[in-house]
Amino acid sequence: RSDFELKTPEQFIAMRKAGLITAKALEAVRAACVAGISTLELDRIANETIESFGAHSNFQLVAGYNHTICASINHEVVHGIPAEARILEAGDILSVDCGAEIDGWNGDSAITIIVPNADGSVPETDQVRQRIELSRVTEGSLWAGIAALAKAERLNEVGAAIEDYIDAQGRYGILEDYVGHGIGRNMHEEPPVYHFRTKDLGPKVTPGLAVAIEPMVTAGSNKTKVLADGWTVVSKDSSAASHWEHSVAVTESGVWVLTALDGGKARLEALGVPFGGLSA
Ligand code: MG
Ligand code: MG
Repeated sequence: RSDFELKTPEQFIAMRKAGLITAKALEAVRAACVAGISTLELDRIANETIESFGAHSNFQLVAGYNHTICASINHEVVHGIPAEARILEAGDILSVDCGAEIDGWNGDSAITIIVPNADGSVPETDQVRQRIELSRVTEGSLWAGIAALAKAERLNEVGAAIEDYIDAQGRYGILEDYVGHGIGRNMHEEPPVYHFRTKDLGPKVTPGLAVAIEPMVTAGSNKTKVLADGWTVVSKDSSAASHWEHSVAVTESGVWVLTALDGGKARLEALGVPFGGLSA
């Protein structure tokens, strides 16, 4: 018995709709993201994309939050607020978090972008190279966590896999102040998903489980503070940060990455993990 709702295959198919719309909104943001654009403009693009599919932003349902995305620049880790005055520069590392709700089901996903010039190039500096590497390591850790979920007996094996992956790449800070979560009828549900090894084994992993895995990683310390706006979480040592997130379903045949355009198929196959996608 669990204290969170396990979903049926039919419910996962409904959730996939929310996940796919979330993926398309983030893809639109990625395509539009270029030096000189404001984070408020990216917010508008995400919202238009979500509404074009008849869905709505679930971030706007969070009490006190009035935007569609969180846009966190450089040493901002998560919960950065879009603003007209936040103009992106080439080489900035930008984490974009977004979610959509449709038919009562939710998607939640985040990507990191190294902001390019109009011609697609990025500044060739050590700082930018480190930011590219930080994003690669963080995204890789997310997929290590997804791969672990496919084989896990207990949920906290996911966090151990993420931590081991990151530790093998170099010295990074894995946030412990903020963690992943179950997802379904609400964007945030039980159980918590840790991105690091814990003593507690966590709940059993069975078909029907849906979780948002979302490692938040810095190039320095994992200590954070919240800015005076009450939202923006920054690294205490001002080191750059990256955030990658997917909503993932455990099915009878494997895992289904609900917020990946292809359901995770290509990347899961490369990792030797069974793709658990369902069709109506
Ligand atoms: Mg999110
Ligand atoms: Mg989340």
